[in-house]
Amino acid sequence: MRVALTGGLIADGTGAELVPGTVLVEGERIAAVLPPGEPVAEAEVIDATGNIVAPGFVDLHSHADFSLGASPAAESQLAQGVTTLVAGNCGWSPFPITDLETLRAGTAFLDPKHDWSWTDLAGFAATLQPAVNLALQVGHCTLRIAAMGSAKRLPSPDELRTMQDLLRAAADQGAVGFSTGLIYAPGAYASPEEVAALVATAAECGLLYSTHIRNEGAGLLAALDEAIAAARAGGARLEISHLKAVGKANYGLVDAALEHLDKVDDVDLGWDAYPYTATSTTLTTRLPTWALAGGTLLDRLADPAERARIAEALRADDLLSPDSVVIASLPPGRYEDSRGLSLTEIAQRDGVDAAEIVLRILESHQAAVSVVNHAMSEEDVTTVLEHPRTAVASDGWIMDATGPGHPHPRNFGTFPRVLGHYARDRAILTLPEAIRRMTSLPATRLGFSDRGIIKPGAIADLTVLNPDKITDNSTYDDPWQLSTGINHVLLAGQAAHTGSGRVIS
Ligand SMILES: [Zn+2]
Repeated sequence: MRVALTGGLIADGTGAELVPGTVLVEGERIAAVLPPGEPVAEAEVIDATGNIVAPGFVDLHSHADFSLGASPAAESQLAQGVTTLVAGNCGWSPFPITDLETLRAGTAFLDPKHDWSWTDLAGFAATLQPAVNLALQVGHCTLRIAAMGSAKRLPSPDELRTMQDLLRAAADQGAVGFSTGLIYAPGAYASPEEVAALVATAAECGLLYSTHIRNEGAGLLAALDEAIAAARAGGARLEISHLKAVGKANYGLVDAALEHLDKVDDVDLGWDAYPYTATSTTLTTRLPTWALAGGTLLDRLADPAERARIAEALRADDLLSPDSVVIASLPPGRYEDSRGLSLTEIAQRDGVDAAEIVLRILESHQAAVSVVNHAMSEEDVTTVLEHPRTAVASDGWIMDATGPGHPHPRNFGTFPRVLGHYARDRAILTLPEAIRRMTSLPATRLGFSDRGIIKPGAIADLTVLNPDKITDNSTYDDPWQLSTGINHVLLAGQAAHTGSGRVIS
């Protein structure tokens, strides 16, 4: 089977200037890049006139593993031109499982639509029929729960060894990375030494170390240092996830962070970012981490004294920022009409303060509530995107085309927003450079030499986009909008469809 993509401009993924030409695909791989007009015999032709032919986009930071079971068609990703998703980020992966109940209590992200019949990476992978490729990482929170539940303490030597053994087993089954989420319980209970021991094991297995660092606010630089030290000691490749400075008091801190990262010359490190000024996470991240120890948040809230203690901590904590935190999604029922409203708005409506409203909402929904937090400056987002070492990544989930609630627009628009808004409209970076940041750069971080690039022999994961029309349509107020301007997506030489992706390593 031969496919010829003709008449377009080719962005090969290296950042080189666009050149006219034909990309010829044979079977799963790119056979040749031909000058324009050169005749190609016996090939199915895709007319790319007026379009750019680029490598399929590689999303280094996705949470697709939690929603993929329900949305294998990956419409929200294909409409962005994404062909490979790296999952298992921020310390959470859906394997290995020894205690499903504690794992599911640990995060609101876990999709109830999965059957949860597996225990390890291979079992999870066997349940999938994704439309896009998946590269899987093992999460530290998940490992910790498998070894010691959600206890707020350091692991015993035996428990640490169990985590290391489970990590090695996942690596043997094809994991590409190990991730931490050091703001999330129980990952936040880990000492730097525990993390470093696991990073060293990950490095021995050849895995990337991806980290949602311990502090993205005033403690940003120290948190970067913790990640760098662990990678240096263990000899790991390091990926700083969603680099940013959160909270008004910390605006501008990304300049120092980038300067700091650029100075490190003895660690193989990189970072990624999404092109938005809001974050999105679970409402439980607003709580002090001790409130989540032992997986007993709901029990604690049922105890009046403990509930009062948590409320007091929330009132004392200036990180609550209730004006900026908007309810993104929660299950049907009470507060359903609060989706899209800020904590301040909901609290005023109910005549209580923001701390009380946080607890009421969590109690009403088994703590399974996600939020959007408007916490970054546009200048910082632009500064990070301008830096040549920043990869573009979504931090998003796979979404259907329509659904409930107010999910973060990054789920639908990350890649088109960088190509359209930041490259074409604002000229923050050139189009070939923007494409490099979402193709060869992330592929190289993963150690993939035959993806993220257009050259003979590379896997034919390809995206055909119209540079004049590429647009992210999803907004905070009206998020359920697929992006437009992506005209064809090929996986290994075939038009993308449910089941066309595979788990790659
Ligand atoms: Zn994260």
